[in-house]
Amino acid sequence: DTILSIDDVHVSYGKVQALNGVDLDIGTGELISVIGPNGAGKSTLANSISGFLPYDGSITYKGEEIDESDPEDLVERGLIQCTEKRDLFGFMSVEDNLDLGTYVRGDYDERLEFVYDLFPTLEERKDQHAHTMSGGEQQMLAIGRALMSDPELLVLDEPTLGLAPVILDDISEGIDRIQEEGVTILLCEQNVTFAMNHADRINLLENGEVVRQGPPSELRDDD
Ligand code: ADP
Ligand code: ADP
Repeated sequence: DTILSIDDVHVSYGKVQALNGVDLDIGTGELISVIGPNGAGKSTLANSISGFLPYDGSITYKGEEIDESDPEDLVERGLIQCTEKRDLFGFMSVEDNLDLGTYVRGDYDERLEFVYDLFPTLEERKDQHAHTMSGGEQQMLAIGRALMSDPELLVLDEPTLGLAPVILDDISEGIDRIQEEGVTILLCEQNVTFAMNHADRINLLENGEVVRQGPPSELRDDD
Protein backbone atom coordinates (compact mmCIF):
# COMPACT_ATOMS: atom_id res chain seq x y z
CA ASP A 1 0.00 0.00 0.00
CA THR A 2 1.80 3.13 -1.27
CA ILE A 3 1.17 6.36 0.63
CA LEU A 4 3.58 8.58 -1.34
CA SER A 5 4.74 8.16 -4.90
CA ILE A 6 7.38 10.37 -6.49
CA ASP A 7 7.90 10.00 -10.23
CA ASP A 8 10.56 11.77 -12.31
CA VAL A 9 10.49 14.96 -10.26
CA HIS A 10 12.50 17.98 -11.37
CA VAL A 11 12.75 21.23 -9.40
CA SER A 12 14.85 24.24 -10.26
CA TYR A 13 15.50 27.62 -8.69
CA GLY A 14 16.17 29.71 -11.77
CA LYS A 15 19.30 28.15 -13.29
CA VAL A 16 20.00 25.90 -10.30
CA GLN A 17 18.63 22.41 -10.96
CA ALA A 18 18.00 21.18 -7.38
CA LEU A 19 16.16 17.92 -8.24
CA ASN A 20 16.92 16.12 -11.45
CA GLY A 21 14.53 13.22 -12.01
CA VAL A 22 13.81 11.76 -8.57
CA ASP A 23 11.79 8.52 -8.29
CA LEU A 24 10.77 7.23 -4.88
CA ASP A 25 7.84 5.28 -3.41
CA ILE A 26 6.95 5.06 0.26
CA GLY A 27 4.72 2.30 1.60
CA THR A 28 2.34 2.93 4.49
CA GLY A 29 4.16 2.42 7.79
CA GLU A 30 7.65 2.48 6.30
CA LEU A 31 10.54 4.65 7.42
CA ILE A 32 12.40 5.77 4.34
CA SER A 33 15.50 7.91 4.52
CA VAL A 34 16.96 10.29 1.99
CA ILE A 35 20.62 10.90 2.75
CA GLY A 36 23.11 13.12 1.00
CA PRO A 37 25.57 15.96 1.53
CA ASN A 38 24.71 19.61 1.95
CA GLY A 39 23.12 20.93 -1.25
CA ALA A 40 22.10 17.48 -2.53
CA GLY A 41 18.44 18.53 -2.65
CA LYS A 42 16.99 17.01 0.53
CA SER A 43 15.13 20.13 1.69
CA THR A 44 13.92 20.78 -1.83
CA LEU A 45 12.44 17.28 -1.91
CA ALA A 46 10.87 17.70 1.54
CA ASN A 47 9.39 21.04 0.52
CA SER A 48 8.04 19.76 -2.79
CA ILE A 49 6.30 16.90 -0.97
CA SER A 50 4.79 19.35 1.52
CA GLY A 51 3.31 21.49 -1.26
CA PHE A 52 5.64 24.45 -0.71
CA LEU A 53 7.37 24.33 -4.11
CA PRO A 54 6.26 23.85 -7.70
CA TYR A 55 7.77 20.81 -9.47
CA ASP A 56 7.77 19.01 -12.81
CA GLY A 57 6.82 15.35 -12.79
CA SER A 58 4.46 13.75 -10.32
CA ILE A 59 4.17 13.48 -6.55
CA THR A 60 1.04 11.81 -5.24
CA TYR A 61 0.00 11.54 -1.60
CA LYS A 62 -2.73 8.94 -0.99
CA GLY A 63 -3.37 8.96 -4.74
CA GLU A 64 -3.77 12.71 -5.21
CA GLU A 65 -1.29 14.99 -6.96
CA ILE A 66 0.41 17.27 -4.40
CA ASP A 67 0.46 20.40 -6.55
CA GLU A 68 -3.30 20.26 -6.91
CA SER A 69 -3.72 20.87 -3.17
CA ASP A 70 -2.55 23.76 -1.05
CA PRO A 71 -0.21 23.04 1.88
CA GLU A 72 -3.01 23.43 4.41
CA ASP A 73 -5.13 20.79 2.62
CA LEU A 74 -2.18 18.44 2.86
CA VAL A 75 -1.89 19.03 6.60
CA GLU A 76 -5.60 18.35 6.93
CA ARG A 77 -5.05 15.04 5.12
CA GLY A 78 -2.21 14.07 7.46
CA LEU A 79 0.94 15.07 5.59
CA ILE A 80 3.03 16.99 8.10
CA GLN A 81 6.59 18.31 7.77
CA CYS A 82 8.91 19.22 10.61
CA THR A 83 11.13 21.66 8.73
CA GLU A 84 14.87 22.08 9.17
CA LYS A 85 14.26 25.61 10.47
CA ARG A 86 11.91 24.30 13.20
CA ASP A 87 9.75 27.45 12.93
CA LEU A 88 9.08 27.87 16.63
CA PHE A 89 7.63 30.97 18.28
CA GLY A 90 10.37 31.80 20.77
CA PHE A 91 8.31 34.21 22.86
CA MET A 92 5.52 31.67 23.34
CA SER A 93 5.56 28.87 25.88
CA VAL A 94 6.41 25.30 24.96
CA GLU A 95 2.79 24.27 25.45
CA ASP A 96 1.44 27.13 23.35
CA ASN A 97 3.81 26.11 20.54
CA LEU A 98 2.40 22.59 20.80
CA ASP A 99 -1.13 23.95 20.78
CA LEU A 100 -0.44 25.53 17.36
CA GLY A 101 0.12 22.04 16.01
CA THR A 102 -3.59 21.30 16.31
CA TYR A 103 -4.67 24.43 14.43
CA VAL A 104 -5.57 22.46 11.30
CA ARG A 105 -5.69 18.85 12.51
CA GLY A 106 -5.31 16.78 15.66
CA ASP A 107 -7.08 16.30 18.99
CA TYR A 108 -5.31 18.53 21.53
CA ASP A 109 -5.68 16.41 24.69
CA GLU A 110 -4.99 13.10 23.03
CA ARG A 111 -1.96 14.32 21.11
CA LEU A 112 -0.52 16.26 24.08
CA GLU A 113 -0.54 13.09 26.16
CA PHE A 114 1.33 11.24 23.41
CA VAL A 115 3.91 14.02 22.95
CA TYR A 116 4.59 14.45 26.68
CA ASP A 117 4.94 10.72 27.08
CA LEU A 118 7.41 10.68 24.18
CA PHE A 119 9.45 13.69 25.31
CA PRO A 120 8.94 14.19 29.10
CA THR A 121 11.32 17.18 28.99
CA LEU A 122 8.64 19.11 27.13
CA GLU A 123 6.14 18.57 29.93
CA GLU A 124 8.69 19.57 32.56
CA ARG A 125 9.30 22.79 30.63
CA LYS A 126 5.82 23.41 29.30
CA ASP A 127 5.56 26.96 30.70
CA GLN A 128 9.04 28.01 29.61
CA HIS A 129 9.46 30.27 26.56
CA ALA A 130 10.62 28.24 23.56
CA HIS A 131 13.68 30.48 23.05
CA THR A 132 15.01 29.49 26.48
CA MET A 133 15.22 25.85 25.44
CA SER A 134 18.48 24.25 24.27
CA GLY A 135 18.93 23.36 20.61
CA GLY A 136 18.05 19.75 21.26
CA GLU A 137 14.95 20.62 23.25
CA GLN A 138 13.81 22.97 20.51
CA GLN A 139 14.16 20.11 18.05
CA MET A 140 12.01 17.91 20.33
CA LEU A 141 9.48 20.71 20.49
CA ALA A 142 9.41 21.05 16.70
CA ILE A 143 8.89 17.30 16.30
CA GLY A 144 6.33 17.38 19.11
CA ARG A 145 4.39 20.11 17.39
CA ALA A 146 4.36 18.14 14.14
CA LEU A 147 3.00 15.16 16.09
CA MET A 148 0.21 17.31 17.52
CA SER A 149 -1.18 17.38 13.95
CA ASP A 150 -1.59 13.59 14.10
CA PRO A 151 0.54 12.83 11.02
CA GLU A 152 0.00 9.87 8.74
CA LEU A 153 3.12 10.83 6.79
CA LEU A 154 5.72 12.72 8.80
CA VAL A 155 8.51 14.42 6.85
CA LEU A 156 11.52 15.12 9.07
CA ASP A 157 14.10 17.45 7.52
CA GLU A 158 17.47 16.96 9.26
CA PRO A 159 16.19 16.42 12.81
CA THR A 160 19.73 15.74 14.10
CA LEU A 161 21.33 18.93 12.75
CA GLY A 162 23.69 20.41 15.34
CA LEU A 163 22.53 18.23 18.22
CA ALA A 164 24.61 16.95 21.15
CA PRO A 165 24.93 13.13 21.43
CA VAL A 166 22.73 12.88 24.55
CA ILE A 167 19.82 14.61 22.85
CA LEU A 168 20.42 12.54 19.72
CA ASP A 169 19.57 9.39 21.72
CA ASP A 170 16.27 10.92 22.88
CA ILE A 171 15.35 11.95 19.35
CA SER A 172 16.40 8.53 18.11
CA GLU A 173 14.13 6.69 20.59
CA GLY A 174 11.37 9.14 19.80
CA ILE A 175 11.53 8.37 16.07
CA ASP A 176 11.35 4.63 16.75
CA ARG A 177 8.23 5.11 18.87
CA ILE A 178 6.60 7.35 16.29
CA GLN A 179 7.06 4.60 13.70
CA GLU A 180 5.69 2.00 16.16
CA GLU A 181 2.57 4.16 16.44
CA GLY A 182 2.03 3.48 12.74
CA VAL A 183 3.21 6.80 11.32
CA THR A 184 4.97 6.64 7.95
CA ILE A 185 8.22 8.62 8.07
CA LEU A 186 10.43 10.26 5.48
CA LEU A 187 13.72 11.09 7.16
CA CYS A 188 16.00 13.53 5.31
CA GLU A 189 19.44 13.29 6.88
CA GLN A 190 23.09 14.18 6.47
CA ASN A 191 23.93 11.93 9.43
CA VAL A 192 24.40 8.61 7.63
CA THR A 193 24.77 6.52 10.79
CA PHE A 194 21.56 7.91 12.23
CA ALA A 195 19.70 7.21 8.99
CA MET A 196 21.15 3.69 8.71
CA ASN A 197 20.00 2.90 12.25
CA HIS A 198 16.37 3.81 11.56
CA ALA A 199 15.50 3.41 7.92
CA ASP A 200 13.87 0.42 6.24
CA ARG A 201 15.30 1.73 2.99
CA ILE A 202 17.89 4.36 2.15
CA ASN A 203 18.05 6.65 -0.87
CA LEU A 204 21.35 8.37 -1.50
CA LEU A 205 20.80 11.75 -3.12
CA GLU A 206 23.62 13.50 -4.96
CA ASN A 207 23.20 16.65 -7.06
CA GLY A 208 19.45 16.16 -7.19
CA GLU A 209 19.59 12.52 -8.29
CA VAL A 210 19.02 9.30 -6.36
CA VAL A 211 22.25 7.43 -7.11
CA ARG A 212 21.79 4.49 -4.72
CA GLN A 213 18.70 2.83 -3.26
CA GLY A 214 18.25 -0.12 -0.92
CA PRO A 215 18.02 -1.41 2.64
CA PRO A 216 20.81 -0.23 5.00
CA SER A 217 22.41 -3.70 4.99
CA GLU A 218 22.97 -3.58 1.21
CA LEU A 219 24.36 -0.07 1.20
CA ARG A 220 26.72 -0.86 4.07
CA ASP A 221 28.22 -3.82 2.17
CA ASP A 222 29.61 -1.89 -0.75
CA ASP A 223 30.82 1.21 1.07
P1 ADP B 1 19.99 19.98 1.03
O1 ADP B 1 18.74 20.08 1.82
O2 ADP B 1 20.34 18.58 0.63
O3 ADP B 1 21.15 20.67 1.68
P2 ADP B 1 18.72 21.89 -0.76
O4 ADP B 1 17.49 21.27 -1.25
O5 ADP B 1 18.64 22.89 0.34
O6 ADP B 1 19.77 20.72 -0.37
O7 ADP B 1 19.49 22.58 -1.97
C1 ADP B 1 19.64 21.96 -3.25
C2 ADP B 1 20.28 22.98 -4.20
O8 ADP B 1 19.37 24.04 -4.46
C3 ADP B 1 21.54 23.63 -3.70
O9 ADP B 1 22.39 23.84 -4.77
C4 ADP B 1 21.04 24.94 -3.13
O10 ADP B 1 22.06 25.90 -3.13
C5 ADP B 1 19.93 25.29 -4.08
N1 ADP B 1 18.86 26.08 -3.44
C6 ADP B 1 18.11 25.71 -2.38
N2 ADP B 1 17.20 26.64 -2.08
C7 ADP B 1 17.36 27.63 -2.99
C8 ADP B 1 16.70 28.88 -3.24
N3 ADP B 1 15.68 29.28 -2.47
N4 ADP B 1 17.14 29.62 -4.25
C9 ADP B 1 18.16 29.22 -5.03
N5 ADP B 1 18.81 28.06 -4.89
C10 ADP B 1 18.42 27.27 -3.86
P1 ADP C 1 22.14 20.77 23.60
O1 ADP C 1 22.94 21.54 22.64
O2 ADP C 1 22.66 19.41 23.89
O3 ADP C 1 20.71 20.74 23.28
P2 ADP C 1 22.69 22.99 25.44
O4 ADP C 1 24.15 22.95 25.75
O5 ADP C 1 22.14 23.97 24.51
O6 ADP C 1 22.24 21.50 25.03
O7 ADP C 1 21.87 23.10 26.81
C1 ADP C 1 22.15 22.25 27.94
C2 ADP C 1 21.10 22.46 29.02
O8 ADP C 1 21.01 23.85 29.40
C3 ADP C 1 19.72 22.05 28.59
O9 ADP C 1 19.13 21.18 29.53
C4 ADP C 1 18.92 23.34 28.50
O10 ADP C 1 17.62 23.18 28.99
C5 ADP C 1 19.68 24.30 29.35
N1 ADP C 1 19.60 25.62 28.72
C6 ADP C 1 20.25 26.00 27.60
N2 ADP C 1 19.99 27.28 27.30
C7 ADP C 1 19.16 27.72 28.27
C8 ADP C 1 18.52 28.96 28.53
N3 ADP C 1 18.67 30.03 27.75
N4 ADP C 1 17.71 29.06 29.61
C9 ADP C 1 17.53 27.99 30.40
N5 ADP C 1 18.11 26.78 30.21
C10 ADP C 1 18.91 26.66 29.18
